[in-house]
Amino acid sequence: MAPRPQSPEIKPEEDACARVDETPGREPSKPYVRQIYWTNVVGIAALHLAALWGITWTPFYAKVLTILWAIFLGGAGGFGVTAGAHRLWTHRAYKATWPARVILMVCYCIAGQNPLYDWVRDHRVHHKFSETDADPHNARRGFFFAHVGWLMMRKHPEVVRRGKQIDMSDILADPVVRFHQKYFRPLKFMLCFYLPVMIPVWLWAEDWYLSLVVNAIIRYACSLNFTWLVNSAAHIWGNKPYDRRISPVENRLVAFLAMGEGWHNYHHAFPWDYKAAELGAYGFNVTTLFLDLFARLGMVYDRRVPSEDLVRRTALMNGDGSHPVYRQNDVTDLSLQKAPATGGS
Ligand SMILES: [Zn+2]
Ligand SMILES: [Zn+2]
Repeated sequence: MAPRPQSPEIKPEEDACARVDETPGREPSKPYVRQIYWTNVVGIAALHLAALWGITWTPFYAKVLTILWAIFLGGAGGFGVTAGAHRLWTHRAYKATWPARVILMVCYCIAGQNPLYDWVRDHRVHHKFSETDADPHNARRGFFFAHVGWLMMRKHPEVVRRGKQIDMSDILADPVVRFHQKYFRPLKFMLCFYLPVMIPVWLWAEDWYLSLVVNAIIRYACSLNFTWLVNSAAHIWGNKPYDRRISPVENRLVAFLAMGEGWHNYHHAFPWDYKAAELGAYGFNVTTLFLDLFARLGMVYDRRVPSEDLVRRTALMNGDGSHPVYRQNDVTDLSLQKAPATGGS
């Protein structure tokens, strides 16, 4: 496959997540023997069963403040994942002052996901080798695998091999990430479970058991699934206005639930755009709303976006024709004969 021309706005070597047009399968990859991690299977299944059971009765007994608290925690944790782990640390789509990075790290801990280092490495591999054996949640292996199954089994050897090749020097150079790495377990316990459960008990005398079910089980399970939908649904169901040659799609429901991360065809075409979307109101991209607010406060700066012209040419050349403005039938512009590169896909 011929290498794609370089983007006029960003060179592939500057983009940690630029897709590599190389199929790992071309090399003799090691035979993959599926090995289930039963502890994870039981843990994840138990969490979901408990959440389903809890959701049938807690809304009738928990205080309104406790429900609002759970929603707040879901939003804060989601922001830590989308604005922090994803757009800042993985894609370097903008820069943030150290107080902003501390806020993002705390929010990330509230979500209770994997160590930041692992999250960033896995996501960079995902972008570079989407839908190949090296993709940690390769959507070609089906919805369940992409959604949660990948967390229940040993990684494919290609994922491990490619993961070791990812440049993570920028992550290790960030003292906020190093602090998180060092105190990952106590931070996760305190910020994802202990304080979320105890604050309603201390401040508005909620029953601790109710708070546990609402905040540590239901909220946690919902928050995980909203993130996972980006890897599953947003790689399967939707349209491809920017690049029809790749699997990621635009999915409104995922955009809403994952705070703006469902515009995934665009995101894989322009992973370095801090909005992770071209269009759309803040209602479908709450993360961008908050990043813009942070920017007004001077805590976030150098927000990167592609030019309108690059997006237009990309959509016209590579899209499936479903873009609300740019459609392939409209191609009359000779400048489009040179296919644009997007710096990743
Ligand atoms: Zn993706
Ligand atoms: Zn991404």
